[in-house]
Amino acid sequence: MERQADGATLPFDPVACQLRVGLEIHQQLATSTKLFCPCPIVKSDELPLSFERRLRPTQSELGQIDPAAIFEFNKGRVNLYKWNPESACLVEADEEPPRPPSKEAMETAILVAEVLGSAVVDEVHVMRKLVIDGSNTSGFQRTAIIALGGALPVDGTAVAVQTVTVEEDSSRVLKEGAQAREYALDRLGVPLVEIALDHVVGVPEYVEAVALSLGRTLRSTGRVARGQGTIRQDLNVSLLGGQVVEVKGVQKLNLIAKVVRYEAMRQMGLVKIAEEIKKRGVSEVECKAEDATRVMKGTSSPVLRRILQKGGVVTCVAVADFAGLFGLEPFPAIRLGKELAEIARTNGLGGVIHSDEFAKQGISEEESVALRALAGYDSDAGLVLVAGEAPERVETVAALVVDRLRKTTLGVLGETRAATEDGETRYQRPRPGAARMYPETDIPEIAVTEEWKRSLRTMMPVPWKEKVAAYSVRYKLSEEAALQLYDSDNSKLFEDLAAKLKLEPSVIASMLVEIPVRLSREGIDDSKITPRALASVSSAVDEGKFAKEAAIDVLRSIGRGESRDVEDAISKLGLSGMSDEELSKIIGGVLKRNEALIREKGDRAFSVLMGEVMKLARGRVDGQKVSRLLKQAMEESR
Ligand SMILES: [Zn+2]
Repeated sequence: MERQADGATLPFDPVACQLRVGLEIHQQLATSTKLFCPCPIVKSDELPLSFERRLRPTQSELGQIDPAAIFEFNKGRVNLYKWNPESACLVEADEEPPRPPSKEAMETAILVAEVLGSAVVDEVHVMRKLVIDGSNTSGFQRTAIIALGGALPVDGTAVAVQTVTVEEDSSRVLKEGAQAREYALDRLGVPLVEIALDHVVGVPEYVEAVALSLGRTLRSTGRVARGQGTIRQDLNVSLLGGQVVEVKGVQKLNLIAKVVRYEAMRQMGLVKIAEEIKKRGVSEVECKAEDATRVMKGTSSPVLRRILQKGGVVTCVAVADFAGLFGLEPFPAIRLGKELAEIARTNGLGGVIHSDEFAKQGISEEESVALRALAGYDSDAGLVLVAGEAPERVETVAALVVDRLRKTTLGVLGETRAATEDGETRYQRPRPGAARMYPETDIPEIAVTEEWKRSLRTMMPVPWKEKVAAYSVRYKLSEEAALQLYDSDNSKLFEDLAAKLKLEPSVIASMLVEIPVRLSREGIDDSKITPRALASVSSAVDEGKFAKEAAIDVLRSIGRGESRDVEDAISKLGLSGMSDEELSKIIGGVLKRNEALIREKGDRAFSVLMGEVMKLARGRVDGQKVSRLLKQAMEESR
């Protein structure tokens, strides 16, 4: 267990503070069709067709309306759906009823359940889960429980499995604006298996280890999709006595610990801010919103001036005894002001300006006095300015800011947040209520017979640990290299190339696994480092067209778009192979220049000489060959 490894990564003890994280993994399946229609699973770059829809939750449909649903509805957005008949049909457009679920997808989900020791249900019932953000054209997502219970082994521990579910993926977001959103229908309906785990208590790194183990288990079936965006994690994070925050859409496994760390610090920061408020003797937050457009008319704040010049309005939210609290940073980058700005941004404004940053924003002391007077509060009051061109939007955001501030004493609020690419979390909406599942009347229940389960048990995959061990033995790879290979998207390609090429498997593995990682760290667009490019570079090295040391230069040139393909890169980089004669000449020159060194050091001069020759040969010739010829030449020259 890695629970101890980590005291330093959080400024408080995560076990003592009961940091709890529940993990929900969504993994796309590699089926030939979508879940409820015969469309193939392809990403469409061109989306020539489109339609518009505005989703309205109605009282009759919902019974008790979900607060999250109302929140989305209030935003008054219009959704535009773009599609291509190659990847979507009338089912995705919600013009035709769904077909019975893909057998292939059901079987993969049952197989996953069996691997996790989860009890498969006798009858699968497809349900409708309300989604009101527009990511599904029908306003709900179809989902079906396949199995309950089970356990996932993680580094000598085990985490209990709650449910294994099969469900349809949502549309792909193309553009997210304040008034409208654009979606692509190619991803809508792609089958996902969702695995919900019991929460774990402890350090962020352990949560990441759990996710990693689950990802590897899923991939052991050989029936799940690979590549970016094919796996997404949701995290339910809470601290002792606090509400649960749902963090959606962590796309990379190696971001999980970072996201958990940020969210834990954010929650602990909010608790500390609440404590500070109570220390000030405030038990109930007193605040009010007033129109401040006239007070700010002559302001020299550049941001506000720009808004006012376009006919915009300013609302001032004044909060008694809050001076200094918005900018207070209990932990790095954790501030109440940031929380308020996120609410504004989610609702179509650029942000807010709070009194702890007035000077920086060009708001004068006279203006703050006038703003406080507007509310009738003294100089201990904190102020938040909400400004925008659309008065109704400003009014909505000001009301949400007032609501948020009144709840500051509660510490952490239950809400849904999104994981960002740099490992933080960003406010999305209030947490949805529980009452939002309805039976899907268009699809009859599906019986899972004992016979079906038995036939699937004959397809049980080899556990991933055994696969990794087998890689290590079969291809003479270190355990770490074997695991990296198993984790990489190129493991299948590796197997093919290792069977076909004369190159050492370890050389192929390092080209397929390490080079893409190094290039992506250099910021090179990995969309051009395709399996095909990797395969042709490996073959070219195999044929001796250039040295393996130059493989990264070739792929970098292709990744940057400087070369079309391997042949083009060879000529652009001047890598065309070197004749033995030319190499001998280089070696002869190096030996001559270093006569004194060779006399002094004898064979120990080898590494210096080798370095010089390799520099001159610049990837045009294999290192092993250079080494062989150099040793030979050194012996002969003696
Ligand atoms: Zn379809």
